[in-house]
Amino acid sequence: MRELLIPLPWIGGMAVAVLVIGFLLILSGRSIRRRRGLTKGRTLDLDGQTLFSARLGLAGRPDRIVEEDGLPIPEEWKSSRRVHDSYRAQLGTYLILIEEETSIRPPHGYVVLGDGPREKVKNTDELRARVLAIADQIRPAKRQMAEIIQVRQPAAKCRGCGVRGACSQRRG
Ligand code: SF4
Repeated sequence: MRELLIPLPWIGGMAVAVLVIGFLLILSGRSIRRRRGLTKGRTLDLDGQTLFSARLGLAGRPDRIVEEDGLPIPEEWKSSRRVHDSYRAQLGTYLILIEEETSIRPPHGYVVLGDGPREKVKNTDELRARVLAIADQIRPAKRQMAEIIQVRQPAAKCRGCGVRGACSQRRG
């Protein structure tokens, strides 16, 4: 049987290539994180918390909550290249929900656009009033939906659901 002999210089070259590829992957990861805004501030939550207010009939799940000057600031990541009004309303919902949960009113949030920029959305009284007006408009429809729609989700799905604490139909 012939022995498989690999020359030592070849093994050394392979190790260097692996190191270079690893280094490039780290750099590329950093670049993606930077593009997504992840290098700014300490992450308090990364798409893991559904915020809910029974009082206002609002719920939302920010892509990220970041600490900025000791305050919780929501971020929403979009593939779009510009900030649409609906994004502002979405962020306005998070700003209200964070205030409901923490009694801290964040001064602003960010929409992180697909090509990188973090656009600041100020937490103005106008934005707050607009979000609450939209919630007022859809609340009757939501009540009606809650009365009509009966769901029977698998227990395993309910166990991993972010709103199970507020859901009367949860199982498991
Ligand atoms: S907990 Fe409620 S909302 Fe969540 S999956 Fe189950 S039935 Fe649906």
